[in-house]
Amino acid sequence: LSEIMGPGVAGECLERRGMHVSEDHFLMEIVDPATGDPVAEGEVGELVLTTLTKEAFPMIRFRTGDLTRVLPGPCPCGRTFRRISRILGRTDDMLIIRGTNVFPSQIEAVILEVEGTTPHYRVVVERAGALDEATVEVEATETVFFDRIGEHQSLVERLKKRLASELGVAFRVRLVEPKSLERAEGKVKRVMDKREMGKREE
Ligand SMILES: [Zn+2]
Repeated sequence: LSEIMGPGVAGECLERRGMHVSEDHFLMEIVDPATGDPVAEGEVGELVLTTLTKEAFPMIRFRTGDLTRVLPGPCPCGRTFRRISRILGRTDDMLIIRGTNVFPSQIEAVILEVEGTTPHYRVVVERAGALDEATVEVEATETVFFDRIGEHQSLVERLKKRLASELGVAFRVRLVEPKSLERAEGKVKRVMDKREMGKREE
């Protein structure tokens, strides 16, 4: 969790279903990173914390930069402090596509669930006229790519459908050859945002 806040902000219980926030010491908010407004219960947003019991160095509405969401319902352990999911990413990674906040971690989650793909992917965002056009390029498995050409289209359709329903944005999907996307040590560059490049691209 956020290193700046130190330990004790949130912790897992024996049920291991998310982390209980120490709401007796911290006031938690989950906000839209772009606007600062609270998101609807259960939606992904930035964790914002206010200390309630620190006297020497209190922090008010500290923006952690961590993305998470509040998990619904009570925990079987009986604790009533709300639970958050593991950290889903950083606000720096957030993309705004046609006014909708999109996190690469959400795209990755969909790709991991759909059979026939590998976890190697890239998101390319371009401006097409007044609209943002987002394409997810994902490496197919060798079997799908080389042996079962006929499955390409159905795999593309499945991915499109899942992405649209999970993220609320229509993506184009392009299957690419296994091992064709760049591999990098450490932090992989998942997003190529061409919208800011302007005319130099042409
Ligand atoms: Zn619990």
